[in-house]
Order: sequence, then structure tokens, then C-alpha cells
Amino acid sequence: MAGGYLTALADFFYPQRCVSCNARASDLLCRACYENLPEIAAPICGRCGMPAAFETYGCDECGNQDFAFRAARAALRYDGVGKELVHAIKYRGRVEAAERLAAPLMAGALDERGFDVVVPVPLHRMRSLRRGFNQAELLARGVARKINARVSDKLRAVRKTADQVGLTAGARAANVRGAYAARGQVAGKVLLVDDVFTTGATLDTCARALIGAGADEVFALTLCRTC
Ligand SMILES: [Zn+2]
Ligand SMILES: [Zn+2]
Repeated sequence: MAGGYLTALADFFYPQRCVSCNARASDLLCRACYENLPEIAAPICGRCGMPAAFETYGCDECGNQDFAFRAARAALRYDGVGKELVHAIKYRGRVEAAERLAAPLMAGALDERGFDVVVPVPLHRMRSLRRGFNQAELLARGVARKINARVSDKLRAVRKTADQVGLTAGARAANVRGAYAARGQVAGKVLLVDDVFTTGATLDTCARALIGAGADEVFALTLCRTC
């Protein structure tokens, strides 16, 4: 349908609706939503990226967990405009927000440098066929451009996992165990990218596969984090 295509094209170049609240806007976010971006600022836990009362490495949230990644960072709390932004990219087709809005925010949350490669958390083939894209890959491409690193599809989802929403931490870990594998050898310092950090189970499983395939160290970066 030509009309739909032209509207989509116009939306792409001249977004008219706020990705969060759908109000008319001159940019991807209206002014009110922009001012309400739930940005995660220091002090945070240097290990898991959770907002903290003071700078620390290891907090109540992550202290008893064994992560394969060195540290995790997130740009926004998974709440309000942050949650809407994830949903806009993932479910409402506003994929331009990944490159133009999410990636700069994520690059800004990153305090590590010198990554050899950026690897998105993969979607299982069945799910990516249905959705048509992998939101983690869109975010990884945007972030990679910002930090001048290359993107690699060194990970693949070897089996379909149940939706993590509503699962307890233990069930989440069991759900993703062995669900990802590396393709061939991996080398150097890897930045692993996903949309949301909840318990860290998915990122941990992916980081484990990357380390097992030869990565020196893995850092995790997400657009949002549950806090
Ligand atoms: Zn808005
Ligand atoms: Zn922590």
C-alpha cells in the first residue's frame, strides 16, 4: 500500500509522534517525556549497574550472584519513559528510536573503552521471523557506530526460551541455561548488548558462552534496567 509506505517514510524522516506518549512532537520524544527520561546516574553499583546510595562494587542486588560478565551498565530505569521506549522499539515499530535515541543514551552510560567487538543478545530464529528484527541487534549497531567498534553475530540462540516476564530469578536462570552458544572463536574485549537487564540471567549465559569461546572479558550494556 503506497499510502502506508509513504506515511512510514515520512515518519522515519520527520517523526511526528512522541515514541513514548504519542503526542505530536518535533523530535522522537516530546519535551515532557524528554525531561522525564529516567536516566540512571551515579552513584551506582559498579558491578551490576544498580543505582546505589554510594559508589560500590557489588550490592545487595548482585552480591550473591556469579556473573560471567565483568560489569553491567544501563542507561535508563525500566519504568515510565524508559519502558515506553523499549516497547516502542520492540512492539510498535519505532525502530528509528534505537539508533537516534537509545544508542546515544547507552553509549553515554558506558564507562569502559577499547572494545574489540559488540555482540547483540540473539533472538531465536522463530521469534525473529515473527518480529522481523532483533531489537538487541538494532541497539548494538547504534552503539557500535557511537564507539567505533564493529558488530559481530558471534552468538546464536540454540533453543527457544519461554518469555522471561513473570518468572522468578531462579526460573529465569533455568530458562536460559544453555540457550545460547558461540559461533567459532571469539577474541578480545567484548561488549554484549541487550534491551533490558532484569536479573542478568540472559546476559550471564551469553557472557559464559563468549568466554568459553575465547573472549578475554565481557561487559554488558542495556538500554534499561529494572531497579
Ligand atoms: Zn511524550
Ligand atoms: Zn550490584
